[in-house]
Amino acid sequence: MEPPVTLADRAIADLRWIAAYWDDIAESRMHGTARPWRQPTFTAEQVAERDAEARAERWDRTIEALGASPAPVRVPVLDLIADLVLDAYTLAYHLAEAVLCPVPAPPSTAFADPTPYLHSAQARLTEPQDPDTISWALDQTRAMVATMARSLALVYDGQSLDVECPWCHGVTPETPAGGAKTWRVRDLLGGRTCKHGQPDRRFCGECEQLIVIVCEGVCEPPQRYVGTWWRGHPCWPVYEWDWLAKQVQHVESRC
Ligand SMILES: [Zn+2]
Ligand SMILES: [Zn+2]
Repeated sequence: MEPPVTLADRAIADLRWIAAYWDDIAESRMHGTARPWRQPTFTAEQVAERDAEARAERWDRTIEALGASPAPVRVPVLDLIADLVLDAYTLAYHLAEAVLCPVPAPPSTAFADPTPYLHSAQARLTEPQDPDTISWALDQTRAMVATMARSLALVYDGQSLDVECPWCHGVTPETPAGGAKTWRVRDLLGGRTCKHGQPDRRFCGECEQLIVIVCEGVCEPPQRYVGTWWRGHPCWPVYEWDWLAKQVQHVESRC
């Protein structure tokens, strides 16, 4: 039997997800490319092993390019990134303090590479922590994942994913033989207005966000694979990207 998933495990999974997609947000804006889908070709351990210095340098360059860009969406994305850097630092700081470890140095700029904080928070969560601290940490990582999903939605909303659905195989009325790319990123609540005084609800910390991947084909996966349904189509929250990618790989490896 597998051991039960603890609150600390869930927070660690959140932190890994954030680390894995952080670069995508920044890079996608820099190159203006549609590359929302990436197969999980590396493990979390491999991510940790990447040369930290080269990575920090690349991060700096990316952020510079992002800031220099004239596209209007980039300013809000930069704000979200700055929030996340601060959140990552705060989390790493308090988790270290709670177990009497040396606390990390504050970020050098609002856009410093957050990866060391994410890794340090992960490490502290594997140590015996007070249950209240763990539950606080999970609240923090959940909120960070929501912010991250929002950033991804800003970058990717409406875009197709370059992948064939493992359940319907891209069968649509236009492509009865299959093969269509039917997955799309959707901001399901994007049309609503904010009641908290923000001009754009996507940047409101209080408004609910629902960013999903929808299969727009004629698609009916077995119930256990469906997160939820939207207008008759199965959809999955955007933070399940990794899980979805694994399902695709799993099906491909059997063909
Ligand atoms: Zn499908
Ligand atoms: Zn709001």
